[in-house]
This record gives sequence, C-alpha cells and structure tokens, in this order.
Amino acid sequence: TSFAPLYTRVMLKISGEALMGDQGYGLHPPTVERIAREVKSVHDLGVEICMVIGGGNIFRGLQGSAQGMERTTADYMGMLATVMNALAMQSALEGIGVFTRVISAITMNEVAEPYIRRRAVRHLEKKRVCIFAAGTGNPFFTTDTAATLRANEMNCEAIFKGTKVDGVYDKDPKKHADAKRYETVTYDEVLSQHLGVMDASAIALARENDLPIIVFSLDEPGGFRGILAGRGTYTRVS
Ligand code: UDP
Repeated sequence: TSFAPLYTRVMLKISGEALMGDQGYGLHPPTVERIAREVKSVHDLGVEICMVIGGGNIFRGLQGSAQGMERTTADYMGMLATVMNALAMQSALEGIGVFTRVISAITMNEVAEPYIRRRAVRHLEKKRVCIFAAGTGNPFFTTDTAATLRANEMNCEAIFKGTKVDGVYDKDPKKHADAKRYETVTYDEVLSQHLGVMDASAIALARENDLPIIVFSLDEPGGFRGILAGRGTYTRVS
C-alpha cells in the first residue's frame, strides 16, 4: 500500500485534551502512544511532520486568571504545560523509532532545543518530527496561533487540526443528530459564523498566508494517513 501522499510537509495540531484519554485531566500514556502511532504511519510515507500540542489538559491561562491569578503568569504556566505534553509525545514517538526534536519557544536548554527557524527546517529535511512547544512564547496567544505561525515559518502546505469529530459542522454533532458537516468552508465563513475551528487570530493568520486547515477526527484509526492518501471525511478551510 504505497502511494504518493498529497502533502510533503504538514503541521499537526492537537489539543492537550486529546492526550488525556478518558481521564478528566493530565496525560494518559496509552493515548499518547496511540496518537504517536498515527503520526508514525504518516511519517513512514516520507511526509515531513511538524506538531504543536496544546496544554489544556494541564493548565489554561484563562482558567487561572478567572480564579484570580495574574493573566500573564497564568499564560506562562499554560505554555509550560505544553512542554510537558511535547515531552510525552517525544517519548512515545521515539519509543516506536521516530526521531523527534522538541523545540521550545521559551528557552530551557536542558529540556528542549531553542527555536531557531533554519535549524528546525534542517530537522524536517532530515525527517525528524519537530514538536514545537511553549506556544508562541507570548501570553495572550493560543497554541492554535502557534501552530499557524510555525506552519507558515516552516512552509507547511497545510495544518491538520485533529479533533473529536470529522470536520466542521453547523452545530455540535455530538448534541444534534441533524448537524451538517461542511466539505469546505472559507476562512471568512469560519469567522463570521463563529464556527469554532480555531481562534480568530489563528484563522486570520492562516487566511493571510493561504494556509489551508484540514479539520479531521483524531479518534478515527488511520484517519490522518487516509487523508494524505485522498480518502476519509474532513473539512477543508481555505
Ligand atoms: N499559551 C500562551 N501563549 C501561546 C500558547 C499558549 O499564553 O502562544 C497558554 C495559554 O494560557 C493557553 C495555554 O497556554 O491557555 C494552553 O494552550 P491552549 O489553550 O492553546 O491549549 P489547547 O486548548 O490546545 O489544549
């Protein structure tokens, strides 16, 4: 089953919550391993892979600030949470033989490489999965924006946004049986109809650079690889 994948360099964005399995919090290593195998199946095709993982399974700045924490401090804690998730994913990927680099927007040399664009590009050329951690390094942003920023910097052809559902719907398909999935949707429709694909700054950044966003289900085994083979259901935002 060999085929020419539709993309040669992609960004995979997953939320921190995708790593917590059925738990309400934190990391569930078997779930991390399952996602790592999905990544490997695409890496095996020769596709160059960037990843950004959120931190919401551990800490969100907005939640902290709602409970009285200073917002920027809370956001830095959220960024640190993404580093833990990145390390967990690195461990799982290397456990199945995929070389990876964790590249942090906040320098912590003992734990991760600092972000140097040209060096990261070189890693991709050498087929190392690059996991970009600590978001953009700035408070008041999200990891969706970080994924869009790095995808642009790395010249990715698309962002793959792995979610719990197989695309963008007009209403929550887990609550409404008649929810309709879009095959394609424009950036402007996502913004004007508040479709909740990614936050507005991420959508705007993608639109400005004509970077398509492929929204697909991470729960569908083989789904990520299938899309690269031209199969499966998803929504393309472009
Ligand atoms: N964060 C930030 N700047 C960034 C990226 C993330 O301040 O560039 C903080 C922010 O507090 C956010 C938290 O890190 O709530 C975790 O990221 P996010 O909420 O995007 O994670 P996800 O929802 O994807 O799990």
